[in-house]
Amino acid sequence: MSLYGMKIEELSGIGKKRAELFNKLGVFSVGELLNFYPRTYEDWSDITDIADVVDDTTVCIRAAVHSAFQSGFTKSGKYIAKTYVADETGVCQLIYFNNRYIDRMLVNGATYKFFGKASNTFGNVSMIAPTFSPDDGSSEVRPIYNLTAGLNNNMVVKAVKQALLLLPEKINDPLPENLRDRFKLCGLRYAINNIHFPESPEALEKARKRLVVEELLVLTLGLQRLKNRKRSENMNKIADDYSLEFEGFLDFDMTGAQKRSIADCISDIMNSEYGMNRLVQGDVGSGKTVVAGSVCYTMIKNGFQCAFMAPTEILAEQHYNSFKEIFKNTNVKTALLTGSLKQSEKNRVREELKNGGIDLVIGTHALITDDTEFDNLALVVTDEQHRFGVAQRARLLSKGNSPHLLVMSATPIPRTLGLIIFGDLDISIIDELPPGRREIDTLLIGSDKRVRALGFIKDEIKKGHQAYIVCPLVEEGMSDLASAEEYAAELMLNYFSDIPVGILHGKMKASEKEEVMRNFSENKIKLLVATTVIEVGIDVPNATVMMIENAERFGLSQLHQLRGRVGRSSEKSYCILVSDSTTDNSTERLKTMCTTSDGFKIADADLKLRGPGDFFGSRQHGLPELKISSLADTHNLELSRKIADFVIRDSNNLLDDRYRGLKAEIERLFRETGDSTLN
Ligand code: ADP
Ligand code: MG
Repeated sequence: MSLYGMKIEELSGIGKKRAELFNKLGVFSVGELLNFYPRTYEDWSDITDIADVVDDTTVCIRAAVHSAFQSGFTKSGKYIAKTYVADETGVCQLIYFNNRYIDRMLVNGATYKFFGKASNTFGNVSMIAPTFSPDDGSSEVRPIYNLTAGLNNNMVVKAVKQALLLLPEKINDPLPENLRDRFKLCGLRYAINNIHFPESPEALEKARKRLVVEELLVLTLGLQRLKNRKRSENMNKIADDYSLEFEGFLDFDMTGAQKRSIADCISDIMNSEYGMNRLVQGDVGSGKTVVAGSVCYTMIKNGFQCAFMAPTEILAEQHYNSFKEIFKNTNVKTALLTGSLKQSEKNRVREELKNGGIDLVIGTHALITDDTEFDNLALVVTDEQHRFGVAQRARLLSKGNSPHLLVMSATPIPRTLGLIIFGDLDISIIDELPPGRREIDTLLIGSDKRVRALGFIKDEIKKGHQAYIVCPLVEEGMSDLASAEEYAAELMLNYFSDIPVGILHGKMKASEKEEVMRNFSENKIKLLVATTVIEVGIDVPNATVMMIENAERFGLSQLHQLRGRVGRSSEKSYCILVSDSTTDNSTERLKTMCTTSDGFKIADADLKLRGPGDFFGSRQHGLPELKISSLADTHNLELSRKIADFVIRDSNNLLDDRYRGLKAEIERLFRETGDSTLN
């Protein structure tokens, strides 16, 4: 029987109560316990001389007990025992509370290792309640586990030790020997033993490397399988391509990159066995909307319905208006479906979607996914996909008659990461901006130049343009609302008294925000003062300046997205970054913004500086939980991809018996995400 089938209660010393504590930590079986990797380690092999102890650091010292314990009570009535220990370089005081046996545990004259937080005030070194063990010459790195109330580290250590003894003589390593040899990875038994109880720091490194690579490999292969999974066949094939006809509706020419993306989509829809499952990724302003519009048009002319989903109402409305304009001389019937429509209007739209009276519906995700029925929906477009996880995509595809899926994203995700996050999608990249766009001039200024910058903004507005100002971020103790309003009031009073100003902040209701955005896009508001809630994707080509206060507090990718709100026409546009920060790191980051407009380069810099959290925030990316690896680990991600390619070739798509263990791991990982489409 596999160790995953063996309940944790079967280990000695673990009764029902304690098992429940393990369960809380997500550990139910012995197999899971072996995968319950330490949170961190104490390196007891790295001995610090007492004379070298730095105040307020965690250290391990090797020292002999050098005086008898002195005990007493503190003012609050706690039992306190103190002694001194010494090595060749100095003396350290040890203090223990509420431990009446400590003088029997630490024998006067004997040498121990002590591990813990130490303080050093003017040469007086002390440690409060360090853990200790006899100095028997063994160097060791000790595991520290995540715990929960009632469960201490020692209990976990004991359980893991038992579990390790249960590892069968011959264990089925998911990475077969040929793979381990080729990519210099250690065996599973060695890895599991050393991730818990490392023989040395080097052994720990080896073990970790192997487990990280295995996890990323399983993820990579799993996503590839998800992409190639047995989907229902292409139910919505088309016969004719109408993209040329569509171009005739536009008053500009499509860029080469737009044409290529459209051709990729049409080819998927016409020829692919399983239908389209494609991501179109293009930097802000690269013109993704008309790409989607063109594909919709071809579908509609072939007799199908399409749904276009936007993340917010205001974006849905904007897309609806531009599609209405594009299709004005055709018989394509478009409709808008958002929460703020009157109920009767919603009912009418739903009715017509059901009976086929509408060809293209544009709306928010929720409205379209909920209970809207279609006559013959064959294409779903989703805009700004990073709000839309892998699992949701899978669910959507199982809806109705297996519609084709076109996902659009402006989030420049570094390549290595993109391959993972979008591993289940084919990708087209729009790597070319429409002609005539002028580079946005990005300037970095100190707040001493703010007044001049405001004067410049005023001039731009006088010329008929519009502008954004992104507020200083909220100080602690001040609400978003108060700071945005105060800041805007100050601007209106002192600089923009004769100019219509709108405010956007986080505390506003969605409908209020939409109202402000609408007034801005209709040019009724000239200057928009906002906290960071400016919608990604909003298109107001007349806006030519953006000023961002406290620019150093934003991630580069965020700044790039914000900046993308200007420079959307052939007018020269400007982005002014205001920052008084003088640290090298932030100055360098902001200068990157001034010198490059390539979203992918910026994203790579950001990933290095800030890690992957920034790309997703708290948003769900829908991937299985990673136990030991990180998506920021681009080096090992790259390696895993290489290994994945090798495995696919070497294993005849995982059919080779040698790779049975690996295949089982992939299936297990994806079962945990609840994605049963993987088989
Ligand atoms: P994004 O990729 O950020 O979603 P949009 O689709 O909103 O970009 O396009 C930005 C602007 O560029 C829109 O006003 C759109 O009409 C315009 N546009 C798109 N493609 C072209 C093109 N090939 N030539 C000129 N303008 C274009
Ligand atoms: Mg867009």
